[in-house]
Amino acid sequence: MTTRAPTSVVKRTAFDELAGSIRGELLLPPDPGYDAARTIWNGAIDRRPACIARCLGVADVASAVRFARERDLEIAVRGGGHNVAGTAVCDDGLVIDLSAMRAVWVDPAGRTARVQGGALWGDVDHETQAHGLATTAGIVSHTGVAGVTLGGGIGFLMRKHGLVVDNLLAAEVVTAEGSIVRASADDHPDLFWALRGGGGNFGVVTSFRFALHPLGPTVMAGPVFWAADDTAEVLRFYRDFVADAPDELGTVVRLGTVPPLPGIPEDLHWRPAIAVNSCYAGAVEDGERAVRALRGFGSPLVDLLAPSPYVTFQSGIDPTVLYGWHYRWKSTNLAGLSDETIAVIADHAYAAGSPRSCVVMFHFGGAVVRAPHEATAYAGRDVAHNIVIEGVWLPDESGEHAAAETAWARRFLAALQPHRAGGVYVNFLDSDDDSARVREAYGEEVYRRLAEVKAKYDPDNAFHHNKNIQPG
Ligand SMILES: Cc1cc2nc3c(=O)[nH]c(=O)nc-3n(C[C@H](O)[C@H](O)[C@H](O)COP(=O)(O)OP(=O)(O)OC[C@H]3O[C@@H](n4cnc5c(N)ncnc54)[C@H](O)[C@@H]3O)c2cc1C
Repeated sequence: MTTRAPTSVVKRTAFDELAGSIRGELLLPPDPGYDAARTIWNGAIDRRPACIARCLGVADVASAVRFARERDLEIAVRGGGHNVAGTAVCDDGLVIDLSAMRAVWVDPAGRTARVQGGALWGDVDHETQAHGLATTAGIVSHTGVAGVTLGGGIGFLMRKHGLVVDNLLAAEVVTAEGSIVRASADDHPDLFWALRGGGGNFGVVTSFRFALHPLGPTVMAGPVFWAADDTAEVLRFYRDFVADAPDELGTVVRLGTVPPLPGIPEDLHWRPAIAVNSCYAGAVEDGERAVRALRGFGSPLVDLLAPSPYVTFQSGIDPTVLYGWHYRWKSTNLAGLSDETIAVIADHAYAAGSPRSCVVMFHFGGAVVRAPHEATAYAGRDVAHNIVIEGVWLPDESGEHAAAETAWARRFLAALQPHRAGGVYVNFLDSDDDSARVREAYGEEVYRRLAEVKAKYDPDNAFHHNKNIQPG
């Protein structure tokens, strides 16, 4: 990222009062750390906040919120900085940056963990697995806990243990007024309901308390790859295989090219291929039985399913979605994997121009669908699968790929239109997905209820640099 002249002249003295009231650092242009601090996972996002407040605790966050509200500053909130739409940074306003707040405290006897609002999933897995415990987490270790949780949270363990929000016991929140409140089933239950799916609309969450479950530390996990030519057969087999799978088996399909990961022979690197990545949340021997038919199907190019430390598995695909690359996503829930849907997927998945572009498809069911639907604001519990079409290119390839990969993703989504379930996971929406798609993510009933909670906790819509719920 190159340093340009700031879009507005920022007076450092304007932030003196904030500097005096927080323990963390304030970063303004041209401070040496400013450019790094405004950089997020999606390298295509290039925004220049007036000031970044790198908070060190809840008191800092409360001061920053009050400071911004008193001056009517635009507010952006940064957790892990992974959201593809880049909502963690804004132009000109104040970024309330929690990236220095990554502590995780585990209570092994009570099987809970308290996690600060800037932690990454790798932090949580690392600390909880030291006690042989885990909770449902995102599938990439450098993704932020806060954004994932507030949107609902899907991952390999969700069929066994529910969504991330189903494991959320309480949250500490700084509201739009700058007050510090606890939200749980007993305290501010309306806010607690809205936080579990409604995104960053209701306040800044400074810590989460999650339920934990025994897991591993060794699990049967890993991907099996087949040649792209086998895609339709593999997906038809996969559809029937997962329909009967035990709750313990979480799977994610990836279509694209074979990434150059450790354990994959070099002659396969960048070859078009479909992979099914699995994790069995139970005994390794039971996992071996559960995946036998999958790894026995057809002629895999390479089979990396093996007993593995859960923490290692959870960071296995990190190098395929590196920080700083450029990304453009399109996503939808799928009604199912009919032969027609499979044909569309097989036709479009390998038509991207960049070898880094890919398609990722999550399988739901199990505990996700059994949880009471009205208990949280997550609205997509009944879907069998969702799909994310990910245009990906390197920063210096924008001329060649930006328009082409974006067009590919849009074309692919349009072709899936007749096969869509209606609905989309709010955390997979990109910057060009409008408010209609936010409403689509929730459906009318949940959106209306979210709007009521928004009107109570943030009537002025101070937290609008997100997938926004309008106060109703
Ligand atoms: C590589 C990759 C893999 C992913 N895998 C998964 C997955 O397996 N499962 C899944 O469910 N999702 C997944 N996602 C999507 C993910 O849920 C969203 O990108 C999410 O927004 C990331 O959270 P973050 O804290 O890193 O986001 P950020 O970009 O930091 O924040 C996004 C928004 O969340 C809100 N927010 C962030 N922190 C706070 C806070 N402390 N308090 C209040 N609001 C806050 C703000 O509105 C902010 O604009 C993935 C994304 C990527 C890029």
